[in-house]
Amino acid sequence: AEELLIKSERLSAVGQLAAGIAHEIRNPLTVLKGFVQLMQSPVAQSPETKTAFYLGVMKGEFDRIELILNELLVFAKPTERLLERYDCAELVEDVIHLMTPEANLRNIVILHRVASESYPILCEKNRMKQVLVNVIKNAIEAMTAGGDIVVGVTAANEDSVSILVRDSGPGIPDGEMARIGEPFYTTKNTGTGLGLMVSRKIVEAHQGVLNIYSTQGKGTEVEIIIPKVTSDDEKSAVR
Ligand code: ADP
Ligand code: MG
Repeated sequence: AEELLIKSERLSAVGQLAAGIAHEIRNPLTVLKGFVQLMQSPVAQSPETKTAFYLGVMKGEFDRIELILNELLVFAKPTERLLERYDCAELVEDVIHLMTPEANLRNIVILHRVASESYPILCEKNRMKQVLVNVIKNAIEAMTAGGDIVVGVTAANEDSVSILVRDSGPGIPDGEMARIGEPFYTTKNTGTGLGLMVSRKIVEAHQGVLNIYSTQGKGTEVEIIIPKVTSDDEKSAVR
């Protein structure tokens, strides 16, 4: 009976995620269907400006479905794990380069603090980039009044590297902290609530951890700890 219970609990976790996905995609679909019906109705023999407006709304809803599905695809794809050597300083630089235009538009400066030492990791490059993009994007979105984001790379310990992203935003209220990273939990109007869950899964697939520390009124720090490349790793990577 105990085994059965565990099994049904597991099913309900999957069921919960499925229900969340269904809900998130049904909303934009309902809007899309409504607009198609509007355009088919006699009322649709209306000025072209109206049609352009309908199409604009529809495009927005299609984009939303695409965004949600793209974020979830990380789970669906069985990873053909191509692990590459990537220096954390280079990873951070690549992503800062990518995010700086968006940050600058919002009066935010991204600062890069890297120790002189090199911190190579073995990873799926694009996925690790996606993690850092998600985390920095959250920092940018949190700092509505501008500010600084500091991205640092240090040794977490002998075997691991720590990538830190610290913002000077409003922080996360204590009552919300427990729900952060839950699928579809978002406090944003157009958020998906998938960024941190997906990022954590990616980091864990690299034998790492993703921690979030936040002080209300002071800011938020996301810490990503990843094992460093060992000489054994390098040998097997070359093979
Ligand atoms: P989304 O960005 O789509 O809302 P995420 O999973 O990336 O989804 O983030 C979930 C929630 O965590 C956000 O809606 C926000 O409330 C909170 N959050 C994440 N990062 C930060 C941050 N740097 N500062 C304040 N709140 C944050
Ligand atoms: Mg996000």
